[in-house]
Amino acid sequence: MTTSPNFVTREVERLVSGALVSDGAGVKLLRVLTPDLQRRLDPFLMLDEFRSDNPSDYLAGFPDHPHRGFETVTYMLAGRMRHRDNAGHEGLLTAGGVQWMTAGRGIVHSELPEQEQGLMHGFQLWVNLPARAKMTEPGYRDIPAEEIPYTATAEGVTIRVIAGSVAGIDGAVRREETEPLYLDVGLPAESAYEAPIPAVHNAFLYVYEGEVKVGARGEPVRARQLAVLNNRADADGVRLTTSGGARLLLIAGRPLNEPIVQWGPFVMNTREEVEQAVRDFRSGSF
Ligand code: MN
Repeated sequence: MTTSPNFVTREVERLVSGALVSDGAGVKLLRVLTPDLQRRLDPFLMLDEFRSDNPSDYLAGFPDHPHRGFETVTYMLAGRMRHRDNAGHEGLLTAGGVQWMTAGRGIVHSELPEQEQGLMHGFQLWVNLPARAKMTEPGYRDIPAEEIPYTATAEGVTIRVIAGSVAGIDGAVRREETEPLYLDVGLPAESAYEAPIPAVHNAFLYVYEGEVKVGARGEPVRARQLAVLNNRADADGVRLTTSGGARLLLIAGRPLNEPIVQWGPFVMNTREEVEQAVRDFRSGSF
């Protein structure tokens, strides 16, 4: 297990277990990042994990629904999901792939499973847009598994760089304002990884398999727990160690420090803007 003595690590500020919810037309989800964490984890608004091999948990999918004011990032680990939207985009998300969708001024889309049995496992992250970009043109990008940059350490720690950059490797997506970092990290048994994170960014990790110990204190974070990492001006990043192995998402970004007003699938800066979004959607102008 290799660690460097001079690396200043963040620690766990808080452990969160999330909430089991049902969304879309009845899809069972673990809502890991809940609305009460939106301010603390600015610019991230939501993280859901969907994981089931019981088709009745996912078959109904997410029929047509709107979004405005932010971006959705869907990362599939297993299963197949079909996306269609009213801007004419269509794509099939498959294992290891990412869909990065900019809702901007408004999009109506469906997300429907393209399988009737087997495991469906993945995540959806919501990344906020700065006020000046909330009404931007909608955008859509499919990134297949083989196009997601990948690196590994000498100890065999694997890092898929979905967004941001790490060890000189630029991720699949970059955003100027919030500079999101989105890593899928796989630690084999008896390994360590020191992930660099800019000191001013808000950061958290979500363990989806195994158990990891975080920081100099070695606080354990178990599968299906989210750890909010503390912010300290002199931190280089976060030190992760594991004895039995772990797989986790490490997510960080520069806070926008703007008001957050959410009404379901619309996230704006003021109540008036959210009411306008509802009116625009109902009048069919998305
Ligand atoms: Mn959606």
